[in-house]
Amino acid sequence: MRYLILSDIHGNIDALEAVMADAEGKYDKILCCGDLVGYGAEPNAVVDWCRANVSVVIRGNHDKVASGVEKMEDYNPAAVLSTMWTRKALTPENVEYLRVLPKGPVEVDGFSLAHGSPFDEDEYLVTVYDAANAWESMPTPVTFFGHTHLQGGFFIRRASVREIDKVPPGNHEATVVIDDDSRFLINPGSVGQPRDRDPRSAYAIYSTDDRMVTYYRVHYDIVKAQNKILNAQLPEPLALRLAVGC
Ligand code: ZN
Repeated sequence: MRYLILSDIHGNIDALEAVMADAEGKYDKILCCGDLVGYGAEPNAVVDWCRANVSVVIRGNHDKVASGVEKMEDYNPAAVLSTMWTRKALTPENVEYLRVLPKGPVEVDGFSLAHGSPFDEDEYLVTVYDAANAWESMPTPVTFFGHTHLQGGFFIRRASVREIDKVPPGNHEATVVIDDDSRFLINPGSVGQPRDRDPRSAYAIYSTDDRMVTYYRVHYDIVKAQNKILNAQLPEPLALRLAVGC
């Protein structure tokens, strides 16, 4: 089975459409590690699409605050404004869909999906030290996660934790072999708001038959997504950051 793994779409339908065009023919099922909404100007288009196409979605922190599952704590001013805007924009059906999304980790076909870390859905896994703390709570040898918007992740082999590199700038894809001697925490990267200094949209494909994860980066119409954010009178930094990928 080939799984298309998406994460952190954040209301950016233009990025999502570019990913889906690029991924065409490469997958059998779609999974999502959360944060469908927040920041971007088209939360309903993204949620409608996920409801129709994604087999398993777990909730992200933005899905929780937009649907009233959780209050906003430690959110920066732009995130607060975008959450308030998103709450107003979402249809009641889409609010309800987000409200009942399951909390990660959720197991699928021998591997898992988490939003933050396997032990805390809101925890950021950024460094090898963060990853080292997460190993014991990994429910399966391979866990996909999001939340940081940084493509790559980590693997542990013989008690040492190492980073997995993202797709280098200028390249379209990079592969990682899933071997039995290691455990993997894999971040497909963010579809709608990459923060690893590469503004291209990010995703991954996991082929369980080939035991291989392939990371991808694709160009999308950033100006179009920016103009939608500005026309919606969302905070300007949310548009500007898309161009620099941070
Ligand atoms: Zn996110």
